[in-house]
Amino acid sequence: MADVDRLLAFDRDHLWHPYSSAAETAPPYFVESASGVRLSLRMPDGSGQDVIDAMSSWWCAIHGYAVPQLDEAARAQLARMSHVMFGGLTHEPAIALAERLVALTPPALQRVFFADSGSVSVEVAMKMALQLHVGTGTGRTRFFTIRGGYHGDTFSPMSVTDPVGGMHSLFTGILPDHVFAPVPPAGVDLPDDDPAMAAWERETRRLYAAHADDIAAVILEPLLQGAGGMRFHSPRVVQVLAELAREHGALVILDEIATGFGRTGTMFALERAAVVPDILCVGKALTGGYLSLAAVLCTDEVAHGVSSERAGGALMHGPTFMANPLACSIALASLDLVQDNDFSTQVRGLEVGLTSGLEPAGALDSVVDVRVLGGVGVIQLREPARVGELAAAAMERGVWVRPFRDLVYTMPPYVTTPEDLSTICDALVQSVATVHG
Ligand SMILES: *Cc1c(COP(=O)(O)O)cnc(C)c1O
Repeated sequence: MADVDRLLAFDRDHLWHPYSSAAETAPPYFVESASGVRLSLRMPDGSGQDVIDAMSSWWCAIHGYAVPQLDEAARAQLARMSHVMFGGLTHEPAIALAERLVALTPPALQRVFFADSGSVSVEVAMKMALQLHVGTGTGRTRFFTIRGGYHGDTFSPMSVTDPVGGMHSLFTGILPDHVFAPVPPAGVDLPDDDPAMAAWERETRRLYAAHADDIAAVILEPLLQGAGGMRFHSPRVVQVLAELAREHGALVILDEIATGFGRTGTMFALERAAVVPDILCVGKALTGGYLSLAAVLCTDEVAHGVSSERAGGALMHGPTFMANPLACSIALASLDLVQDNDFSTQVRGLEVGLTSGLEPAGALDSVVDVRVLGGVGVIQLREPARVGELAAAAMERGVWVRPFRDLVYTMPPYVTTPEDLSTICDALVQSVATVHG
């Protein structure tokens, strides 16, 4: 058995954790293994505890852990090769996965670039848009997006992430200055003629018109702004941005890294808006949470535009681990499961369970909003979440949860049973009640 105390001491002194300070004192929990929807933790006193993962490991592990079909896909691919370079070489896992992605997404999207993470896929999408405009000679270099978004942590994605959430003020003069429309009014089902919606559309159109000649592309997360604040907006928001782009000769980039593969109830959130992007980014759940892999899909028009002589003649991007065969094989097996398990029924079940299970939180003094969309359940607090205390309180109730800002939320694995789902909901509601009142 691992000497957890010693390992945690080394972790504290030598490792970075996400969004952490080197001076941070709260120790992380030590995971020994994971199976089904549960993480097996080893506590410093040597005791073990199993907890339900209400986060799906940051929204990726949609089928849970130690999934026999995904394990088998990994083993079968390991026996052939775990990796080869993608420059000048190709292989069946990449080709088969590209075929699947082309079949699953709108017919206009015909070309696939495999990246090694979501942020890199957004880098590639933005580079494609900029390069295309070099090719057409418009000189356009700016992006148009909405506040409250999140597109990744490397510099280009960070430049279109919410200026406050992305800490743009730290990087003034280094970060390119893009154009941000207001946060859209809340609610997926908000009617198009709602006054707040009409006001948002007016302001967004006005802002866009002021910059139209500079805008290379619009970029947004359809329906769900994830790490930027777990906000939901109506399909109309996606349509307005796409219309503006089309009217003014800009491209449409949709970032479905969080929403892709069923999380909001449809395979892709863009289906609800009936918007076909020029460029689409997918990632996170693509490999069922097993390995890091993302993909950028684009139209033939974009692909050929970027490859034109005037645009440089080639897309200058090629990560070392591009199209990693192991990741591609597991992604194929994961997509089989998404379809065989009937994800839409699974996610509908999550939506029903989360809606009734989280509802009691609405009565708490500390809570300003409770909202659910597909397999996403959010409790929004009046004040910043006391993350450590909330996690500990949920853990006592058998659930792993990692709140951020003023948000206590869950994105459970699709395979979560109704019993486990109600354990998650009870743990969230009771933890909020205990810690925040
Ligand atoms: C997580 C996320 C990213 C970044 O993906 P990484 O794999 O963490 O680099 C980009 N866009 C959205 C919408 C995301 O949710």
